[in-house]
Amino acid sequence: MPTRPYLFHGLTNSLCSRCLGKVEAKIIFQDGGVHLLKHCPVHGREQVLIADDIDYYRQTQAFIKPGDMPLRFNTPIRHGCPYDCGLCPDHEQHSCLTLIELTDRCNLNCPICYADSGSDQTDSHQQIRRHRDLATIERMLDAVVANEGEPQVVQLSGGEPTIHPEFFNVLDLAKARPIKHLMVNTNGIRIAHDPTFAETLAGYAPGLEIYLQFDSFEEAALRELRGADLRSVRQQAIERLNALGLSTTLVVTLKKGLNDHEIGRIIDYALAQPCVRGVTFQPIQAAGRLEGFEPERDRYTLSEVRRAILEQSPHFKPQDLLPVPCHPDALAMAYALKLGDQVVPLTGLFDASSYVEMVPNAIIYEQQPELKQRILDLYSTSHSPASAATSLKQLLCCLPLMQVPEGLTYTNVFRVMIVQFMDAYNFDVRSVKRSCIHIVHPDGRLIPFDTYNLFYREGSAGEGVIAALNQAATTTTWSEPDLVLADPTATP
Ligand code: SF4
Ligand code: SF4
Repeated sequence: MPTRPYLFHGLTNSLCSRCLGKVEAKIIFQDGGVHLLKHCPVHGREQVLIADDIDYYRQTQAFIKPGDMPLRFNTPIRHGCPYDCGLCPDHEQHSCLTLIELTDRCNLNCPICYADSGSDQTDSHQQIRRHRDLATIERMLDAVVANEGEPQVVQLSGGEPTIHPEFFNVLDLAKARPIKHLMVNTNGIRIAHDPTFAETLAGYAPGLEIYLQFDSFEEAALRELRGADLRSVRQQAIERLNALGLSTTLVVTLKKGLNDHEIGRIIDYALAQPCVRGVTFQPIQAAGRLEGFEPERDRYTLSEVRRAILEQSPHFKPQDLLPVPCHPDALAMAYALKLGDQVVPLTGLFDASSYVEMVPNAIIYEQQPELKQRILDLYSTSHSPASAATSLKQLLCCLPLMQVPEGLTYTNVFRVMIVQFMDAYNFDVRSVKRSCIHIVHPDGRLIPFDTYNLFYREGSAGEGVIAALNQAATTTTWSEPDLVLADPTATP
């Protein structure tokens, strides 16, 4: 009797990458990898690699915890996930990070841009690119506050947010709200070229972080990803941010075979910059403008990025680079302390339920009593000096609460993250319900980043799918409250 060439692990729903219709998907283990095996009644069979490391994939499934709910949901359940965003009451996670797009315009024209932004008047669908007006932006900020109360992280994005003519008025509006951490997602051109702008920006710290595009040291890779040689721009921007002491995260968009060999070098560079608090690695999501991108050839999975970090950076071991519990399929993270030339990974300690379990990780600093003491101090929640206002928990809401001991500040913390957004290839309904990175629609809905770029962005590939579903639904009588209040005891 023949045997299947794979191990059937589970079942989920995905999307057909051609028509974006919802299809059943088997999760299978084959040849050391995890794959989705899908069947679309119209377009047939499709097999997609979603992880190249079965053990790590299994680990992600063990890193889940009950989701935190928003204070309200925004849309009713009508068509089923992912066609009801959102957030609909079936969503399992609040917004850890919310993007507010200030503009469709940009001072670059990257060949890959999920937002289809650029410097021309119109986008590829002949829609006019606009700056959002202040009243709309204010409504979007209020929508986040209404959902979250005190939003953890709000990221001003675009297009290129720093070219918005009322950018500092937007910052004033954001600062006037109870947002714990504000980020500016930027390509760095304005920071590099406009010292007055950068100095004014620095005046909004603390509580402000620059999320700086930083993909490569190589001209060819930059031209392929960004359409321009940005090496000197990056250098000038970093020099200015160092001089201003403005907290910065480097954001690396990864294309398989193009810039993935630079991962270790980028981490080393980041560690040497006083302003840099961490690096986020983000494989390209197959959505929006994708010139020169062939999904079958160029898609890169989270576990492959994790493997590359472990191979290229001597600072992190497998136990240090862990799934993030709020959305373990899509997020992996390592925290470390920067202490002079020393880099001490911390994340491997987080799941230690007892000191005995901590010992293997403690070996690194067992020989260094001072370091050992400083790490152990991190576990003292009673130790809360006024000089260290930042707790590690504030950096990412799903971590255990730990206070930073005296003498250590946010400048000592270094964070490596992998963020993988789903596209029509690796889409998994089970996983997208846990998405905690959301984009505010101008109408006030908060929509997972993954589904926003597939279905809800103007001009997105799946816009017509949603329109057709809504059109069909007009023949049905729905009882739809405008806002469905979150009730933890209710089953949607
Ligand atoms: S992704 Fe979340 S918000 Fe969107 S339809 Fe699914 S459960 Fe609802
Ligand atoms: S990816 Fe960013 S920098 Fe590039 S065109 Fe789009 S918005 Fe501009």
